[in-house]
Amino acid sequence: MKITLNSVTKIFPSRSRKKPEPVVAVNDFTFEFPDGRLVAILGPSGCGKSTTLHLISGLEKPTGGRIFFGDTDMTEIPAEGRGVGLVFQSYALYPHLSVLRNITFPLENLKGENKLTREEREARAYEAARLVQIDELMDRRPSELSGGQMQRVAIARALVKLPSVLLLDEPLSNLDARLRLRTREEIRRIQRATGITTLFVTHDQEEAMSISDLIVVMKDGVIMQTGKPQEVYDDPACLFVATFLGTPPINVILAEVRDGGLYIGNAEVMRVAGAPDGEVYCAIRPEGFAPSEDGALPCGLSEVEVMGRDVSAVCTHPSLISDEMRVIIPSDTELDASSDTVKFNLKPHKVYLFDKQTEKRIYFDL
Ligand code: ADP
Ligand code: MG
Repeated sequence: MKITLNSVTKIFPSRSRKKPEPVVAVNDFTFEFPDGRLVAILGPSGCGKSTTLHLISGLEKPTGGRIFFGDTDMTEIPAEGRGVGLVFQSYALYPHLSVLRNITFPLENLKGENKLTREEREARAYEAARLVQIDELMDRRPSELSGGQMQRVAIARALVKLPSVLLLDEPLSNLDARLRLRTREEIRRIQRATGITTLFVTHDQEEAMSISDLIVVMKDGVIMQTGKPQEVYDDPACLFVATFLGTPPINVILAEVRDGGLYIGNAEVMRVAGAPDGEVYCAIRPEGFAPSEDGALPCGLSEVEVMGRDVSAVCTHPSLISDEMRVIIPSDTELDASSDTVKFNLKPHKVYLFDKQTEKRIYFDL
C-alpha cells in the first residue's frame, strides 16, 4: 500500500517556559512512500522523524495536511483502524509474558468478525516468528533473550497483525555494533520477503544508505532532499545533505569563483564554467583528491594511515571550515608519507559548490 503525505504539518505547544514559542515538529511534509518499498527517514535528533511516524500511525493528529493510505484519506481515522505495525527503539515487550504471548497479544482483543481463536492466534504468531527466525524461542521470557532477539520479537509482534505498513523507529539503536549490522540486513530481508511498505527512521546515515530503496532527509521538520541513496550521495541539493551523508564526512572549504575558475586561497584549483562569481562553500568528498607533483591544491599532510585497499590521509588547509580534512586514496597511488606537504588535483564530479548565504547547490559544467 502506498502512503501519501500531503503538506502535513504538526505544531506542538511549547513544553518549556524559557522557550514559549510553539514547536513546528513537522513542516509541510509532502511525499509519496511507494507501495512495497523500504524508505528511510534520515535526520539528526529532534528533526521530526518520530513525529512523522506518529502522524502516519494515528498516535498524533496533524495540525494541517492530509494522510492517505492508497487512495483512502486516513487523516481522521483513529490508530486502531489504520492497520499499522509500529516498532520502537525500546522494544516495549511485556516482561512477565512468554515470547509467544508477547506476539499474540495484539490479536487477543480483536472483536466481531476479526476475532481469532487461540489456535488461530498462535498459528499467526508462529508464522511471524519463523519470518524473523525466533520460532525456537517461543517459551522464553524477554529477560532470557539477547537485545537482537528482543528486537525480533518486537518486529514479529508488529507483523502478526498483518499490517499494511510497517513503521520502525530507530529499531537498531539499542544493539551493539555487530548485531546492528546483522539485524539491519535481517530487516531488509524481512521487508523483501513480506513486501510490506516500510518506513525506517534513523539518525545514522550509513544505516539509511545501506538498507533503503529511497531516503528522505529531514532537518528542522522540513524535507531537505529525497531520492535513491546513491543519487542523494552523488547529487546533494544543499550543504546540509552533503555534510550529513558519507563517512568520513565531506570536506568543506571556503572558496571563491572568479571568471569560471574556482580559487582556494590564491590557487585556481579547478574550472567551474557556468558558476557565478562570488564566495562559495566548496565541498569535496574524501575520495575526490588525486595526489600529484603538479597538483593545484597545496595542503599540509599531518597523518597517513594505510588501511589495506586504501590510504587515509589527514590534511590541513587554512581555508578549511573544520580543523582538518580526510582524504581517501587507493593504496597503489604515490603518496610520500614522510613529507609534511602534499599537492592534490581535484576530481570534478566529487566537488560540489554551495551558495554561501542560502547553502543551496550551485551547478557548474563538468
Ligand atoms: P526525532 O524523532 O527526529 O528526534 P521528534 O519527532 O521526536 O524528533 O521531535 C521533533 C520536535 O518536536 C522536537 O523539537 C521535539 O522536542 C518536539 N516534540 C516532539 N513531541 C512533542 C510533544 N509531545 N510536545 C511538544 N514537543 C514535542
Ligand atoms: Mg525520534
